[in-house]
Amino acid sequence: MSQAEKIDPFDVALEQLRITAELLQLDSGIYEILKQPRRSLTVSIPVQMDDGTVTAFTGHRVQYNDARGPCKGGIRYHPGVTLGEVKALAAWMTWKCAVMDIPFGGGKGGVVCDPKNMSIREKEKMTRKYASLLHDFIGPYRDVPAPDVYTDPQTMAWIADTYSQRVGHMVPEVITGKPLSIGGSEGRSTSTARGCVFCIREAAELLRIPMKGASVVVQGFGNAGANAALIISEMGAKVVAASDSRGAVYSNEGINAQELVNHKAQTGSVVGFKGSKEISDEELLGLDCEILIPAALENVITAKNASNIKAKIISEAANGPTTPEADKILVEKKALLIPDILANAGGVMVSYLEWVQNLQKEHWTETNVNERLEDNMVASFKEVWTTSKNNDVSMRNAALMVGVGRVAEAIKTLGLWP
Ligand code: NAD
Repeated sequence: MSQAEKIDPFDVALEQLRITAELLQLDSGIYEILKQPRRSLTVSIPVQMDDGTVTAFTGHRVQYNDARGPCKGGIRYHPGVTLGEVKALAAWMTWKCAVMDIPFGGGKGGVVCDPKNMSIREKEKMTRKYASLLHDFIGPYRDVPAPDVYTDPQTMAWIADTYSQRVGHMVPEVITGKPLSIGGSEGRSTSTARGCVFCIREAAELLRIPMKGASVVVQGFGNAGANAALIISEMGAKVVAASDSRGAVYSNEGINAQELVNHKAQTGSVVGFKGSKEISDEELLGLDCEILIPAALENVITAKNASNIKAKIISEAANGPTTPEADKILVEKKALLIPDILANAGGVMVSYLEWVQNLQKEHWTETNVNERLEDNMVASFKEVWTTSKNNDVSMRNAALMVGVGRVAEAIKTLGLWP
């Protein structure tokens, strides 16, 4: 596309940090530290493909800051992965873990590849090679990866196994988002979406929008987006449109989220869903609705389309879907935007619970996990809301003030040594 895709997400992350540093009147030395990741590793991952040829994939892992604990963040497989994107995602993970007040720093990983056109065997070989190249970089007390776009519990299992084989015993706590059979947590696969919907519920209550019957648009019908559609439907809201990388569908009557999940599982896309009309991505974003959930990739809501958005609540299940220029437009329009580092923090919250269960050799019930998730999401939402009101700033700036402020405090307490 477009302009939008050319925006370097790390420039967006740095602009957000600059604004936050001003709001917090951050010490200039700490600002200097926070402008760069602590460590970045780029690796070449040679894989013998099914046809016998060798492809060398490029992979990155960035540890942005670990002042508050081990780095934490997903691994993305996508043709558009760049070091700038991984750095941005790692910075956002740092602020996100601090917003949730969990004892993690922030990291992120990515491999430049096209997983949709790779066999399972090729994906396994690439994943295991990437994991073995990262062996000394990651670890349960150093850097704990998790799933992100186009990686899933199976990918996490291959990484756990590759890491553990070199250690000599099973180390489930090296990674989260694992299958239940090897120490995954109940509730992890739906946690990002569930946390996002808890935030929407809190926002809707403040704006006096009844959840029952509220119209919802989901951009990006993957793990986060499809589960958000299912969970919000259970609360009585009406999903009217959804999209994925192949197109967007709309129905004024409402779309049955479970049937759409089944349709996508059978056909590979939301496109062609019975009773729906195909619309363009831009039409989807501009639909008249109460709630918009961007749940795909970065830089989707830009200066070009933000003024067309009619949703009253925008909850960023995706990381970085809104550019800083678009942020300003949405604030002027008085849309309530729940920023990514709060809206999608349910994933890392339950990843934290998974890590704790692994370290304690425990397995908690789904009810227990979901209750802790709800308590923490609601508490963080309220804290960000209050910060926003007390400082007369947007929810994005308030969340960044809470997150960056906590990281800055940890750096200050540790001091610079030597
Ligand atoms: P996923 O791979 O399960 O789903 C991504 C979806 O986005 C797919 O359905 C894909 O078709 C769709 N998509 C891709 N390009 C699109 C486009 N141009 N227009 C519309 N749809 C498009 O990935 P996911 O895990 O659901 O992650 C989605 C977003 O949520 C990412 O920004 C990710 O960083 C963020 N996130 C995920 C988690 C998690 O636990 N999975 C946690 C926090 C944040």
